[in-house]
Amino acid sequence: MISLPIEQFKHALKAQGKVAIVPHKNPDGDALGSCLALYHFLSSTNFQCRVIAPNGYPDFLNWLPGSDHILIAENELQQAEHFIAEASLIFTLDFNDLSRSGVLENSISMASGVKLMIDHHIDPKAYAEVIYSDTQMSSTCEMVYELILALSGKKALTPEISSCLYTGILTDTGSFKYPSASSNTLRIAAELIDHGADKTFIAQELFDQGHLSRFKLMGRCIDSLEVYEQYATTLMFITEKDKQECHFRKGDTEGFVNMGLQLKGIHFSAIFIEHFEDRMIKISFRSVGDFDVNAFARAHFNGGGHKNAAGGRSDLSLEETLNNFKSLLPTYLTSLKKPLS
Ligand code: 5GP
Ligand code: MN
Repeated sequence: MISLPIEQFKHALKAQGKVAIVPHKNPDGDALGSCLALYHFLSSTNFQCRVIAPNGYPDFLNWLPGSDHILIAENELQQAEHFIAEASLIFTLDFNDLSRSGVLENSISMASGVKLMIDHHIDPKAYAEVIYSDTQMSSTCEMVYELILALSGKKALTPEISSCLYTGILTDTGSFKYPSASSNTLRIAAELIDHGADKTFIAQELFDQGHLSRFKLMGRCIDSLEVYEQYATTLMFITEKDKQECHFRKGDTEGFVNMGLQLKGIHFSAIFIEHFEDRMIKISFRSVGDFDVNAFARAHFNGGGHKNAAGGRSDLSLEETLNNFKSLLPTYLTSLKKPLS
């Protein structure tokens, strides 16, 4: 853990000029919320800021204040690379390994600007000059809250900043449900509400604006469910054909993996989603209790994340990937069946 190196941040922020703020590829509520909160905060000073996302983000985040100014690198690569090359500061938020920055990986690693990492994932890579890395934190948004408070105090918490930060805390904690949501996380959420985050509006925008395509895909996903009671495990999958027939839109499958954990006695849930475009199967893993999906994803599926929520990928076919996954379960029998304490 690297606790908030506030003097290093203060020193870096003496710079002038352009600031690039970059979330991970396929940004979620925490990645975009933290980037946009920092964007609003730094834009109120002399910096020329830009949030540059490696690729697009789901519709349910398009109400976030400032989201209409995000530069999508996959659509405007030259402009994105140019900005990053010229930036005095490059913030990388909600990831700790440059390979997670997609098409921006090269331009960030070549850039001469000072790199600053704010992140709560395990095992940070040493690519940044300033590193604020704390796996105990519920979310990157909670960390950006701590940074803003240390720099400027609560008076800096505008309704825009508060809404962005509340969004990431809500999404990354499963609506305050996961163990990572500490009592302090809830105190911060309460502060953000007091400073203008409208919790009812935000929850509606995030969770109650789903498209019909999402519901159709949810049906396919539940139909695909396989339960391995002897390993306390479920798997689900969505094929490219499902996506086409249900008119898939980005973000439609968000959170589906959690459904597996709603079954009694299940400690480990995995979902496999075919991505023909990227020639891979994107995998999400979730667990309750001691089974470490971060270690599992790293060991077998070229991925990572947190102990109870991780992701990975496979370059094999869907069928081969599922078989591979199932063949691994016996090795983990003891930790999978360990009673929840
Ligand atoms: P999700 O399943 O929602 O895509 O991701 C769950 C968690 O795992 C997130 O914290 C995300 O950052 C991380 N994660 C997802 N995919 C990957 C991956 O391919 N590599 C690594 N290192 N982390 C991932
Ligand atoms: Mn996060």
